[in-house]
Amino acid sequence: MQRHDLLIVGAGPVGLALALFLKDSGLDVVLADARPRDAAAADPRTLALAHGSQLTLAKLGVWEGLATTPIKTIHISQQGSFGRSVLRAADYDIPALGHVVTAGALAGALRRKVDAAGIPVLDETEVTHLAPGTQDIVASLDGPRVATLSARLAACAEGGLSANDDDSVEHDYHQHALIAHVGAAGGHHDTAFERFTRSGPAALLPCGRGFAVVHVVPSGDADALLALGDNTYLDHLQGIFGHRVRLDGIVERLRYPLALRYRRTPVGHRTVWLGNAAQTMHPVAGQGFNLALRDVHDLADHLILSGGDPGDPALLSSYANGRGLDRLGTIRFTDGLVRLFSNDIAPLRHARGAGLFALDLCPPLRHFVAKRMLFGARAWP
Ligand SMILES: Cc1cc2nc3c(=O)[nH]c(=O)nc-3n(C[C@H](O)[C@H](O)[C@H](O)COP(=O)(O)OP(=O)(O)OC[C@H]3O[C@@H](n4cnc5c(N)ncnc54)[C@H](O)[C@@H]3O)c2cc1C
Repeated sequence: MQRHDLLIVGAGPVGLALALFLKDSGLDVVLADARPRDAAAADPRTLALAHGSQLTLAKLGVWEGLATTPIKTIHISQQGSFGRSVLRAADYDIPALGHVVTAGALAGALRRKVDAAGIPVLDETEVTHLAPGTQDIVASLDGPRVATLSARLAACAEGGLSANDDDSVEHDYHQHALIAHVGAAGGHHDTAFERFTRSGPAALLPCGRGFAVVHVVPSGDADALLALGDNTYLDHLQGIFGHRVRLDGIVERLRYPLALRYRRTPVGHRTVWLGNAAQTMHPVAGQGFNLALRDVHDLADHLILSGGDPGDPALLSSYANGRGLDRLGTIRFTDGLVRLFSNDIAPLRHARGAGLFALDLCPPLRHFVAKRMLFGARAWP
């Protein structure tokens, strides 16, 4: 049986980033992914990467050459209310508040680096069972090359939590995210728009020459909206964003069901869960991958500094304790935002409008929110 130090289950952007962090660690790392080699590179989701994630990806050597679009301004508003807030990169002396990239382009860039570093990836190999023991964890595999292998630690980055896991917390938002790419007549000027509506938030992220759309709607409306013809749906979107932008042409319409699902603790016996396998969040604040990258960075630091058994329980609990504040802070921040803006009670709507207005009038408050978006909970004073 093959023996390794670390098995990474899932070669999506999170699993690949962990492998790359460890390329010079001396650890014997192997990845297994159920899908064919190029599947992750076809992921149509769009990610808004915080400034902190840009720095991390640059450190991994994948930022240069990656097709990204800067967000220099974020315009936040609410349909049917007077409040609005504008965040500008110039106010923070940084060139951009964040960058937009397709998840596929990012996964493709990470995979090329992993291949170049000579880290083995078992493609088309599903991990069907993990059996933790005292000294190692044994993985059963369904794939063309290997049936079982053992590792001292399994990092599960398989992109989701099973709904009946005892340690998991789950809340169904009864919402779907409709995603698409739209043209921007007159250009987007590196501006992102977040618009809160009665039925859910809608975002336009500058992406290439147009916008990536993330339009959150009640589950019951998703089918009907997806069934609309392209032009009718484009008119619907234009109605949401009003005169702020002129949308022109739409492609790649898809949808994702939205739920909050997370493990109370992201570590177990010789096991650590990362990315969507540790926490799957609502995309409203664009935090999922950004948080995952901070987790991965910290875990890699722990593994490199320890130099001993990567599955050591003390190492894993030190990692989990260190990540608690950022992890739970980000989960609660995102969940709070969804609940606050999903509620259409009139006084609350006015309070929200006043809140956004106050945010614009009060620079310290705006800086606080902006730092939180840029760097995660660590930026909380
Ligand atoms: C609409 C939408 C918008 C989003 N916007 C943002 C954003 O703006 N910013 C942000 O930071 N995040 C955002 N996110 C979240 C982000 O997409 C995820 O955090 C990120 O893609 C998770 O990556 P991952 O590697 O954990 O999972 P995945 O990308 O799902 O990869 C998991 C991999 O594991 C493999 N796999 C699964 N099971 C097995 C198995 N048993 N054995 C072997 N391999 C297996 C799969 O084949 C896959 O390749 C958004 C999400 C959605 C739905």
